[in-house]
Amino acid sequence: MTDDELTTTVYYDEDADRTHIDDKTVAVLGYGSQGHAHAQNLADSGVDVVVGLRESSSSRAAAKDDGLRVATPVEAAAEADIVSVLVPDTVQPAVFEEIRDELDAGDTLQFAHGFNIHYNQIRPPEDVDVTMVAPKSPGHLVRRNYQSDEGTPGLIAVYQDETGDARDEALAYAHAIGCTRAGVIQTSFQEETETDLFGEQAVLCGGVTSLVKQGYETLVDAGYSPEMAYFECLNELKLIVDLMYEGGLGEMWHSVSDTAEYGGLTRGDRVVDEHARENMEEILEEVQNGTFAREWIAENQAGRPSYTQLKDREENHHIEQVGEPLRDLFAWADEGDAEKAEAPA
Ligand code: NAD
Ligand code: MG
Ligand code: MG
Ligand code: MG
Ligand code: MG
Repeated sequence: MTDDELTTTVYYDEDADRTHIDDKTVAVLGYGSQGHAHAQNLADSGVDVVVGLRESSSSRAAAKDDGLRVATPVEAAAEADIVSVLVPDTVQPAVFEEIRDELDAGDTLQFAHGFNIHYNQIRPPEDVDVTMVAPKSPGHLVRRNYQSDEGTPGLIAVYQDETGDARDEALAYAHAIGCTRAGVIQTSFQEETETDLFGEQAVLCGGVTSLVKQGYETLVDAGYSPEMAYFECLNELKLIVDLMYEGGLGEMWHSVSDTAEYGGLTRGDRVVDEHARENMEEILEEVQNGTFAREWIAENQAGRPSYTQLKDREENHHIEQVGEPLRDLFAWADEGDAEKAEAPA
């Protein structure tokens, strides 16, 4: 059964039934950002966890130091009821091929992002459950929020429900890593994958960095000092985003001056105009029809030639050369020098 229906139900602690995970063994494959957080939170919640890492993996020592049981991915998957695949997305298909024979009927193959299932890079056996538990946050916060009792918001999704237990088990897992404390939304693999890719490309990572660079270049090309341009177009962005994060756009508009509000309301749509909107729609289409996925898979198969070049160009952008010494000034401020903290504001 494939879950294509979208809901906006939010689940909290009281909606989760931990008996769906308490007697199970979870194999966490990978010990990076998400892996270390899931493994430690599960273990602290009393769930039997085994971390699956290659013999050569440098993460083995870290997982052992954190008091966790470590095995190879194959050994871990063999003993587990739930296999949580938390190696990088580009590595997952190869790791899946290694462990696929260890999946027994009724086991669960679980992800924190839908890319490989949605774009058919992993074709799971028909007799297992396939679920997603995706914290909407980097792993170190998933761990920190668990320890501080706050919890981290997350998503769950069910792609294949062979046992009839898939959703309840995913909710129990979300509970055990602290997500239901903050709230968990049910989505589908398709929706999570497409919105995640679109968001990071058009707005969060791609859109914002382009906006910052174009703004910076416009000021510098007009003869203003790079340091001023850096503060105005990059550094202050954090303050604006913090306000939006706390109280939406309204809180931000309320907090800036009337001049900033009027100028922003009359000029913003001239920068990000209907042409930008058309480009966004095109980018969304490439996500939906698989063009982006095919491009990224081929790029990886070719050894990442364009990716390497683009990363290099980004690292060498003028704004990066200007930013480094300036951020060092702010590091002093972090150490408690209030006068320096005020200087560039
Ligand atoms: P990561 O890059 O931080 O870590 C992956 C770990 O996998 C490494 O630390 C290592 O232990 C292992 N690994 C690396 N290369 C390997 C290889 N060739 N073979 C076997 N093991 C290898 O990964 P991540 O960012 O935690 O991502 C894991 C999953 O979580 C992905 O599906 C990602 O989309 C998803 N996710 C990540 C975040 C995030 O903020 N990082 C948030 C939500 C979901
Ligand atoms: Mg098993
Ligand atoms: Mg995302
Ligand atoms: Mg993503
Ligand atoms: Mg200003």
